[in-house]
Amino acid sequence: MLEIANLSHTYPNGTVALDDVTLSIPRGMYGLLGPNGAGKSTLMRTIATLQEPTAGTITFGAIDVIAEPEKLRRTLGYLPQDFGVYPRVSAYSMLDQVAVLKGITGKSERKSVVETLLNQVNLWAVRDKNIAGFSGGMRQRFGIAQALIGNPELIIVDEPTAGLDPEERNRFLNLLVAIGDNVVVILSTHIVDDVADLCPRMAVLANGRVQIEGSPGELIAST
Ligand code: ADP
Ligand code: ADP
Repeated sequence: MLEIANLSHTYPNGTVALDDVTLSIPRGMYGLLGPNGAGKSTLMRTIATLQEPTAGTITFGAIDVIAEPEKLRRTLGYLPQDFGVYPRVSAYSMLDQVAVLKGITGKSERKSVVETLLNQVNLWAVRDKNIAGFSGGMRQRFGIAQALIGNPELIIVDEPTAGLDPEERNRFLNLLVAIGDNVVVILSTHIVDDVADLCPRMAVLANGRVQIEGSPGELIAST
């Protein structure tokens, strides 16, 4: 369970991006919905320990996320927005290198992790191809494979369907669902359809504030 309490963030130029956000996010798929500028990326980056909030607390299980960022990072999979620039290396080799960086140093274990992930995201057939030449959908599927290395218990994906065609979008979203109920998956998007069918719970953010929070049914009933 991820607990966010009274979280606020004001950028140095005075922009209030988050304003007293409190959310309890259970295991499973959780949707974070809101228009551009709502504060979604700021919230995602803050949870992912890439920036510190101006005020508030975040805990993930026993981890105090703001005080112990390195502990969270060990169990975090993060697919940022605009995940697009790649060195000219093959999908296989890139995942293999990321696995080393995540501490999977045994060769046979790494081979098994990389092969399983490439199959899971349906990129096995193109494992030797340069990721620089991948389509948008292939990149996003590669990105989720990279985020899944090391079996994270918290997975954050920020606006993952931007620029994908409908088929790739469905493929990607189904992949997220298949990751399982046993981890927390936060999906941030400005597209209602991305979360409506997939997420048992969701929050709507606007102007840095939580407008509504609940199941899709509760959200529809309250509007
Ligand atoms: P979203 O992801 O929902 O589009 P963001 O978190 O990116 O929202 O942005 C929330 C608000 O904070 C917006 O008004 C945006 O312009 C502003 N903002 C984002 N990043 C910065 C920054 N580095 N400096 C100043 N303002 C920022
Ligand atoms: P090194 O250069 O350290 O010897 P390799 O890159 O040759 O390591 O490969 C490490 C392991 O990953 C080997 O077991 C190899 O068979 C496997 N491997 C490497 N590339 C691929 C690939 N494209 N498809 C399947 N397995 C691969």
